[in-house]
Amino acid sequence: MPQLAELSSTTSRFDVVVVGAGPSGSATAYWLAEAGWSVCLVEKKVFPREKTCGDGLTPRSVYQLAEMGLEPAVAAHGHRYHGLRAFGFGASLEMNWPDHAVFPNYGYTITRFNLDGLVAEATAARGATVLTGVEAVGLLEPTEAPAGHLRGAAGVVLYEKATGTRAEVRARYVVVADGQNSRLGRELGVTRNRQWPMGMALRGYYTSDRHAEPWIESHLDIRDPNGEVVPGYGWIFPLGDGRVNVGVGLLSTDGAWKGVNTTKLQEYFVNQTADAWGLNESTRLSEPTGGRLPMGLARGPHTGANTLVVGDAGGSINPFNGEGIAYGYETGRLAAGVVAEALLAGEAHHLVAYDERLENAYGEYFKVARAFVRLISEPKILAACVGVGMRIEPVMREVLTVMANLMRNDERGPGEFAYRALARLADVVPERAYAMLLGDRAHEG
Ligand SMILES: Cc1cc2nc3c(=O)[nH]c(=O)nc-3n(C[C@H](O)[C@H](O)[C@H](O)COP(=O)(O)OP(=O)(O)OC[C@H]3O[C@@H](n4cnc5c(N)ncnc54)[C@H](O)[C@@H]3O)c2cc1C
Repeated sequence: MPQLAELSSTTSRFDVVVVGAGPSGSATAYWLAEAGWSVCLVEKKVFPREKTCGDGLTPRSVYQLAEMGLEPAVAAHGHRYHGLRAFGFGASLEMNWPDHAVFPNYGYTITRFNLDGLVAEATAARGATVLTGVEAVGLLEPTEAPAGHLRGAAGVVLYEKATGTRAEVRARYVVVADGQNSRLGRELGVTRNRQWPMGMALRGYYTSDRHAEPWIESHLDIRDPNGEVVPGYGWIFPLGDGRVNVGVGLLSTDGAWKGVNTTKLQEYFVNQTADAWGLNESTRLSEPTGGRLPMGLARGPHTGANTLVVGDAGGSINPFNGEGIAYGYETGRLAAGVVAEALLAGEAHHLVAYDERLENAYGEYFKVARAFVRLISEPKILAACVGVGMRIEPVMREVLTVMANLMRNDERGPGEFAYRALARLADVVPERAYAMLLGDRAHEG
């Protein structure tokens, strides 16, 4: 991969510059390069690099990776599994991923240490200029943001730590894919809707004899140190390489988890599952690390005069299950399509189509998911729903299908029914009413 100093003033002009080479940035750059546009993908870390994650790919992620021709590489470095084992309120269920016309009925676990470099390499192989170890430190010649839109920019200012080189890269379009912290996204004018849910998760690696199991496992009744059920779940994802990824994820609106110490919760969860999975001090490989899960498109705006945000920078995680990799690939691909259309037409205003496509792809589904999150933020409602659901296997299978966004358009099962019921509820009960339902907790922080 080239160094920053190798870019001459003539080669530092691109059709598109993309900041961040996680799932969303790499997918944006991959699909634009594949279509023949000149793209510069900038990543501040050098691959392979760690990224705090559960390392779980659902069938939606596998589909996107297969579309990029990467499934054989993922299979070589990852571990194939065929479903979810769920525990909660004294019951357990093993559920295969459903059959679907588009998505496969299996997933993989693969560390982000291995995964993200594979996609960036494929992007470089399609002709993109991929700069690693290079940070975008600011927008170049930013313009004012019209109401409801991002600022525009003539490109980005780059800094390469290893050589101390600074450079400007100019591009007709700038796509920001810099993840959950999204410093550049904030510079573009992205803000978060604080009335909508936010997640928080923590994970660590352990060695385990059960590392090659064909199920990912989730525990739906994680409890805080006082024994209270907490909105979220604990997971153990076997990695097939001697290790398991163990973590907890919490959901909240307006920082309701602020009183909950996630490190303590992780310790409690590890203790709960220690005997079954052989988790202890001697099998623990490192200190747990955590991060935020911006979800349900709670961050925006997503478009500017010549700028877009994708993936976590635009809050695209699925609130139902905390999955963000598939939505990174998908929003990146949607953005690439819209930018390519704008480039072909020579008309930047084509970018507004990105808002429409996000709305078409996720608007209704995320609205339902947000309503669901508000409901289960109330421990009593969570306990009632999961406690009953876990005992009715067909219902739980359908719930899994809805939560992983794997519903078929023609589906008329109980899951579809439950989804339609929730969708109606989300339509008639305004979001603030859910907040009231949850009382003061929703207004903390
Ligand atoms: C604990 C935890 C567990 C999770 N588990 C799962 C899971 O099992 N499955 C799942 O699907 N999702 C999971 N997620 C969510 C998932 O990790 C994210 O949704 C996903 O990584 C988003 O992809 P992204 O490309 O938008 O951002 P990121 O993956 O964060 O990539 C952003 C990239 O931009 C780079 N960058 C940042 N700033 C700059 C800059 N200024 N210049 C250059 N480069 C920059 C970063 O180094 C990084 O490589 C989890 C998240 C957490 C915190």
